Amino acid sequence: MTREEEVTGGAMAAVGAAGHPGEDPARGERAGTGEGAPSGPGTGEGASSGPGTAGEGPYGREAADSEDAARPGRARPGDTEAPVTGEDGEDGGTRPAAIALVLLGLVILAVAAFSTPWRVLTGGPPDPARDFSAAQIARSQAFDAATTLPSYLSLALTVIIAGILVATPFSARVLGRLQGPWWVRVVLGALVITVLAEVIRWPLGIWVETILRDYGLSIQDWAGWAGDRLKNLGVEVVLLCVMLLALVALARRVRRWWIPAAVGAFALTVVTSFVYPVVFEPLFNDFSSMRQGPLRTNLLEMAERDGVPVEDVLVADASRRTTALNAYVSGFGATRRIVVYDTLLQAPQREVELVVAHELGHAKYDDVLYGTVIGALGAGFGAIALFLVLKPLRRRTGVTSITDPRAVGVVMGLMTVGSLIMGPAQNVISRHIEARADEHALDLTRDPATFIAMQKRLSLTNISDLSPDAVEYVLYASHPSGPERIAAARAWAELNGVPAP
Ligand SMILES: [Zn+2]
Repeated sequence: MTREEEVTGGAMAAVGAAGHPGEDPARGERAGTGEGAPSGPGTGEGASSGPGTAGEGPYGREAADSEDAARPGRARPGDTEAPVTGEDGEDGGTRPAAIALVLLGLVILAVAAFSTPWRVLTGGPPDPARDFSAAQIARSQAFDAATTLPSYLSLALTVIIAGILVATPFSARVLGRLQGPWWVRVVLGALVITVLAEVIRWPLGIWVETILRDYGLSIQDWAGWAGDRLKNLGVEVVLLCVMLLALVALARRVRRWWIPAAVGAFALTVVTSFVYPVVFEPLFNDFSSMRQGPLRTNLLEMAERDGVPVEDVLVADASRRTTALNAYVSGFGATRRIVVYDTLLQAPQREVELVVAHELGHAKYDDVLYGTVIGALGAGFGAIALFLVLKPLRRRTGVTSITDPRAVGVVMGLMTVGSLIMGPAQNVISRHIEARADEHALDLTRDPATFIAMQKRLSLTNISDLSPDAVEYVLYASHPSGPERIAAARAWAELNGVPAP
């Protein structure tokens, strides 16, 4: 939840991600998991999709409040499916839920509209040929061509799997064979669906990883790759189970469960985003303080000049799995941190400063916090939408109530559908936020020449798509393209009377 990989893009979704300067090398699996669980590096960076997105897909993820759920004493005997709550009719308040859904949707739109910097500096039309050689452009196109097919196959698989879950009785049939008390069946159900989906996706993951290795972006061995992927999946499953258990427990005892579920989803998203840097990120990387020296001194001085209190800059040991360059901001309040990949430290010091200046822009504008709030509201929205949509789907899915542990597959499918729908909107917001962070970096450093050099390095090292087509842009681009960012820097230079190459 929380962080946006910069490089990767999509993290905003993650709830709050704040981005990074880079670009995601691994476009391939971007479509990734679909459901936004927080992704570790595994997916992303090769996968960072969610950016590492950590994203929990905020949208569409419904979580429930576990407090209520945990209240002892009222539990029904494990095997009964009996819905306490009717799911029918006047039941849980279809009309109030619909009204709440519309109102919450308006609130989300208002917060997104208010917090997104719609007017950002943009340059003229991007022109890759001005800054990149023919060979460099050809390499980027070749990488793009290689990853396009697995990327779209991955997206197609996500759509198909979600479609099967939400529109057929498949998962109800499979999960109907599980035995045990309801909570055991919920956990097993989440595991079964997750494992099935992962088994189907595994070959695509291998394919993408092979391409990343061919291009020198990934330097992980298969054990490391599989380990990252499984850890990522583990985190996803744990969060999913917490959410599902709370949701089902609520629905078993509260008629209008959508109300506490929406509140709980909001709270769970905020908490996850807050603790993400200290609880989840260390599962994937080791972090150390940037060592004493002129670079560190300059960075902290720059932060101070910027009015952004930063006590430390952390370095992640990304070089054990990738050659890609990245940096990001994650967490907020007491957990906020600026992280740079150790791979970035090979770059000239001045370029590293430009990257960090960009991250300071995210910190200064509280991009992670706003992203988290929007994501959390989206999660609440998802909880209410879930309540409303289950009923019309029941004939197709064979699941009549959320209290039925077999509903787990339907809920997971709906979450995936939600994150697929929200992805392009998140990218639009993210691109504006990234452009603002770039502008901030330029204002702070007044050094467009180094900014442009840094963008070229990021684009070349990460083998970014220098001219993404419209579909790729809509689906995957959480950042403006390298040439767009360079064009914006030239526009800034002209506006400010500073020379730029
Ligand atoms: Zn960024």
